[in-house]
Amino acid sequence: MIITDTHTHLYSEAFDDDRDAMVQRAIDLGITRFFIPAIDSTYTDAMFRLEADYPDKVFLMAGLHPTHVKENYREELQHVERLLSQKPFCAVGEIGIDLYWDTSTLDIQIEAFHHQIRLAKHYQLPIVIHCREAFEEIFEVLEATKDDSLFGIFHCFTGNEEQAHRAISYNMKLGIGGVATFKNGGIDAFLDKIDLKHIVLETDAPYLAPVPYRGKRNESAYIIKVLEKLSEIYGLPQTTIADITTQNSKDVFKI
Ligand SMILES: [Zn+2]
Repeated sequence: MIITDTHTHLYSEAFDDDRDAMVQRAIDLGITRFFIPAIDSTYTDAMFRLEADYPDKVFLMAGLHPTHVKENYREELQHVERLLSQKPFCAVGEIGIDLYWDTSTLDIQIEAFHHQIRLAKHYQLPIVIHCREAFEEIFEVLEATKDDSLFGIFHCFTGNEEQAHRAISYNMKLGIGGVATFKNGGIDAFLDKIDLKHIVLETDAPYLAPVPYRGKRNESAYIIKVLEKLSEIYGLPQTTIADITTQNSKDVFKI
C-alpha cells in the first residue's frame, strides 16, 4: 500500500526540531510520496534542502501563496518564473485567492493567480489551488481560463456538493484532508456522492490536523486518520482508497 500526501509543508519551521523523525514516522506507515506546496521565496532554500534529503520521495511545487501576495508580488512572481525555467517542478502551487486574512489585496491576488495559471499552462503543469472564503472569485478565474491544458487539485476542499461538482468540471481533483474528520466539517455529508476518481489525500501539515489531533501540529503520518475516514464514508478497504487516490495523484502530477 502506497499512501500519497499531495499537500504537506514538510519544510515548515514547525518541524525544525524533529523533521527527519517526523518524515520517518510517515514513511514507516507507507506514506512514501510527499508533494510540497510553495509559499514564497523565503522558503525556497528549505524546500531544496528537503528535496536533497529525500530525492525519490519529495516533489516540489513552485508558486506564490495568495496570503503572501503583497507589495513585492511582482518580484515574487519573477522568482517563481525563474525557478520554473531552471529545473522541473511537479506543479504550480499553492496559488489562488484567500479573502479570510486580507480582502484589500483581492485585485493583486487575482492578477497573481492569472499570471501563475499562464505559467502552469506554459510548462504543462497542474495547478494546486488554495481557496479560502473565495469560491466565487476562484470559479470566475477558472471559468475565464479553462481549457484542456488547465488541470490540477482544489487543495483542502471545504465547499458544498455543488461546488465540488463545479471544481471537478474544471479538471480539478479535490484534495481531502483533516477537515473530513471534523464534526462540523460538512464534506463527510456528501463525499460518498463524489466518485473516488476525483479525490486525492492530503494533510496540509503542519495545519489542519485530523481528529483526534485537531488543534495540534499536523504531520504527514496523520493522513492515516483521513484514510480511515474515507474508508468509512465510501465503505471500501483502506488499501483500495490508498491505491485509487495514489493513482489519481499520479494522473495529476505525472510522477
Ligand atoms: Zn498549504
